[in-house]
Amino acid sequence: MATIETVTGAIDAGELGTTLIHEHLRTRDEAVHSQWPGVGTSGGIPERAIEPGGDYGAAVEAAGAAVGLGVRSICDPTAMFLGRDVQFMRRVAEETGLQVIPCTGIYTYDHLPSFFVSRDPDQIAELFVQDIEQGIQGTEIKAAFIKCAADEPGITENVEKVHRAAARASLRTGAPIMAHSRPASDTGPQQVEIFREEGVEPSKVQIAHTGDTDDLPYIERLLEAGVFIGLDRYGLEMFLPYERRNETALSLLERGFAERIFLSADSCATIDWFPHEVIEQMLAAGMAKDWDIRIIHQRVLPDLREGGMSEEQERTILVENPVRWLTGE
Ligand SMILES: [Zn+2]
Repeated sequence: MATIETVTGAIDAGELGTTLIHEHLRTRDEAVHSQWPGVGTSGGIPERAIEPGGDYGAAVEAAGAAVGLGVRSICDPTAMFLGRDVQFMRRVAEETGLQVIPCTGIYTYDHLPSFFVSRDPDQIAELFVQDIEQGIQGTEIKAAFIKCAADEPGITENVEKVHRAAARASLRTGAPIMAHSRPASDTGPQQVEIFREEGVEPSKVQIAHTGDTDDLPYIERLLEAGVFIGLDRYGLEMFLPYERRNETALSLLERGFAERIFLSADSCATIDWFPHEVIEQMLAAGMAKDWDIRIIHQRVLPDLREGGMSEEQERTILVENPVRWLTGE
């Protein structure tokens, strides 16, 4: 049986169990933290900022809540520029028993450090391969997938370079790719096209955040290319309201796409991107609601079941698709 790398070691694919494909234990700006240690810890969510233990306490609380709801594993796509720290992730996994699957990759909408601007995709891929084959950040923890991103600026030269690097690292190692996308900027099909040009099997590719649109022709165009899609931002009302996310999910199930779908929240136990007062304004404006690692089990699954999702489809989405995407089997 195939194995899957987690921050606490490799597991058999059969041990993966119920998996949320896209949740972050901590999101923070790594450069700011490196230069001004301690600033902005506990992220921007006021009630979490006062929890004992700060970021770590919030991450343990989120991971523990997930375990309590029956989640056995999460993929944590915290890559470069999101503050990846695999020792932090391992501590949380050890304390809670949640299996946490780490990644390599670069999360950028355009900016790259000079180090990467002056290097080609193969040289960047080399670093991703190191993370996958040898270990991340001086540990023996190995990356199980590769993250890249395209957003409002579209497929800029730098974004394309990172996608090609991800593709080449995937071809060398067999690791799958998770590509953050922005349907409103039509990035998904362009991302798929780059991977196709590089020769990556579509079944190795997940176009994250496709659930930010309910434009079914757009979504079906991606699905027909053979990739997985993430309906993975439940709770982020500012991109698409909850009800429309569920209507889209049910339409896709009716059309027979259960084997290509993931459900997740893209939650961050803490995130430091915004000052507390801005977060408060955003919450007051309804930009996020129940945006939390619990939302899939507490709201989404019950509502989708009521809408007609079968037990078999639920198992396919939460248990079988993660194994197929991660292992290719
Ligand atoms: Zn994310």
